[in-house]
Amino acid sequence: KAKDNGRNSFQLYSPEMNIVSMERLIMQNCLRIALKKNEFELHYQSKVDHQTQEVVGIEALVRWNHSELGRVSPAQFIPMAEELGLIVDIDTWVLNTACQQRRIWLDAGVECGPISVNISALHFNHDLVYSVQQALEHSSLPPHLLELEITEGCFIQNMKNASGMLAEIRALGVKSSIDDFGTGYSSLSYLSQLAFDTLKIDCSFIKQVPKNAQQCQLVTTIIAMAKALDISVVAEGVETHAQVEFLSDKGCFVYQGYYYNRPGNAMQCTDFLLEFDKSAEHKDVELTLA
Ligand code: C2E
Ligand code: MG
Ligand code: MG
Ligand code: MG
Repeated sequence: KAKDNGRNSFQLYSPEMNIVSMERLIMQNCLRIALKKNEFELHYQSKVDHQTQEVVGIEALVRWNHSELGRVSPAQFIPMAEELGLIVDIDTWVLNTACQQRRIWLDAGVECGPISVNISALHFNHDLVYSVQQALEHSSLPPHLLELEITEGCFIQNMKNASGMLAEIRALGVKSSIDDFGTGYSSLSYLSQLAFDTLKIDCSFIKQVPKNAQQCQLVTTIIAMAKALDISVVAEGVETHAQVEFLSDKGCFVYQGYYYNRPGNAMQCTDFLLEFDKSAEHKDVELTLA
């Protein structure tokens, strides 16, 4: 405890802070061994083309289930994993698992477009191309069925490096998208400079559509810009019919959000895909990883 709050002393600790930092410490230690203890699981959420009623992509979202901490949100543990230097291993596990699951759906004849995986900025600037090649090789997944979701944070520091990396990814035949578009602080000029296939409008913009006129104008502008640059556009966090009406009126037809489905484990997602694609004939095989 800091001495009597006197001059030149700092009140570094309060009892509340101690509890918070203790919890953090415990969580950090659990996170370090989570991969080894097999505590991660992937959930999957579809991207649906509203016009054709087809699933055109699936995003893999990591879940951490700890026996005592319970389910920890990725928004909480991903930044922690980045600080602790664990993120490359976790993202690599996600990449491999997602590719294997996509391969299973492919073998079963389930149509669902590419599987997309979120890539942390640290991984992006590390050995991304190698991890991607390995995951494709191990799963024998055709490259066009894999997509990487990258945020603006990945290229904010090093534009040259980022554009080279994206060109390498494209050369492999792998798709790429900008995630959470509009929430970063990078300039718009990168949009035309970088080799992206898809732009994902962040759910924070979609949330207030169509109630908030300013947000509506922003979303309209983003859609128009994507069209002008010949980049496909996906709206994230679509929940309501009013949002669907607004977006389709502006020419954006691919939606990811609770309106169509919530993220679910491989089995739940398989059920959704089979339900959505009733007409197709599927082979009678195991549809999820053991
Ligand atoms: P994200 O990539 O933007 O993923 C979309 C988030 O929106 C997911 O949150 C999803 O569950 C949520 N969502 C989907 N539909 C709706 C909706 O209709 N309404 C609302 N309110 N939310 C919706 P989640 O799964 O908690 O993931 C949060 C973030 O954590 C992700 O944002 C992504 O940035 C990060 N993340 C998740 N998995 C991974 C991973 O494997 N690696 C890395 N590096 N980051 C990951
Ligand atoms: Mg994402
Ligand atoms: Mg997003
Ligand atoms: Mg997000």
